[in-house]
Amino acid sequence: AQDEPARVLAIMGREFSENSVQQLIEHEGIHISAHLSLPTFHHRDSTRMMFLVNGRVIRDKALIAALRAGYRDVMFHDRYPVAVIRLEMDPADVDVNVHPAKREVRFKSPQTVRAGIVACVRAGIEGMGQSVATTTTNKALGAMNSSMPNVSSYVSHSSMPRFSSASMQSHAALNTSKNNPELQHLLFRAPHEVHESDKLYDIGEVLNLGHAVAQLHSCYIVTETEQGIVLVDQHAAHERISYEKLKAQLSKGAVSTQMLLTPVTLSLQGEQAAWLHDHNSQLEAFGVSVEVMGDESFLIRSVPAMLASESPLALAVELIDACILMGVDAEAGDTGLGRVLERWLGNRACKGSIKAGRVLLPEEQENLLREMEQTPNIAQCNHGRPTYVRLSLHELDRLFGRKE
Ligand SMILES: [Zn+2]
Repeated sequence: AQDEPARVLAIMGREFSENSVQQLIEHEGIHISAHLSLPTFHHRDSTRMMFLVNGRVIRDKALIAALRAGYRDVMFHDRYPVAVIRLEMDPADVDVNVHPAKREVRFKSPQTVRAGIVACVRAGIEGMGQSVATTTTNKALGAMNSSMPNVSSYVSHSSMPRFSSASMQSHAALNTSKNNPELQHLLFRAPHEVHESDKLYDIGEVLNLGHAVAQLHSCYIVTETEQGIVLVDQHAAHERISYEKLKAQLSKGAVSTQMLLTPVTLSLQGEQAAWLHDHNSQLEAFGVSVEVMGDESFLIRSVPAMLASESPLALAVELIDACILMGVDAEAGDTGLGRVLERWLGNRACKGSIKAGRVLLPEEQENLLREMEQTPNIAQCNHGRPTYVRLSLHELDRLFGRKE
């Protein structure tokens, strides 16, 4: 019998294998084995998700929703992860005779299954949220190579057929993730069960973005690493850093705030004004302090320190909109606040993260890189755009025709 990674490779193709990790978890008697794509490796719909329940391939909207919920924090709303999820459970807990073709099943406890899948995805992402998909590198090489007649030969990964021959795949298996050094490190580690106390992810060890060589166009940082070069989008990186910091502060109930030297007047009408009259104290949890002055007049006194460089007016209005939309409820605790935070920052344009065209001093560039290395999920901004692209020396050599 083939081992599982090899079988998944045969079904899903090499590109998926290069851009996914395996995660095993046991949740209330359900054994889940998942192959999960990196957050920057996604698809336009759910057709590249595969679910097996006790060995049977099934199609289930609730399972698709659970998988997406696990990725909620790191993938843009209209994209879908690529994954193979195998669930093994007591046959008594699942009814397979719901549908004549047996493509559907009924779980005795759908909530337990959902919670298990979400927990599995979260654990998987914790171990890989810093890795960018190899497709990003291939795109970069394709763009640089556009003067050559046959670009597609350089981006052959992207153009590989989804279901290719077994012989080709077994060769590919040996080279799994060779384009993605930090992912390789994760992949070749034996997958293991996750326990509460098991800290499986040491961020500092995994990602090495090298040293800043230059900043280009007040937007991109070029770094030199031992294996090649890295290009960083400073706006996208800063966006994820702010988000993760605020999220951590929010969960501790201690968002660092900055008082405004000059309070900013906020004029609102209708639903926004009405909401703010009743709920202005709820903004405090997010580090935004607003005082009621009149029916339609308010005063912004503080903003989160992480976002102090941004427009207080825009920050406050967007936060109020997010609260109204998500139905902020202090009773809901962390989860409720987290959803508002995600909505609030997720709807902000990436280019707002650092003032457009901000020049960074060499030590600021270095600081950004070191901060990126310590930030969970840093491979993508809140919109799922990559924050960095890695080009290996080997790839550069090939680009210039030094090597085959
Ligand atoms: Zn973004």
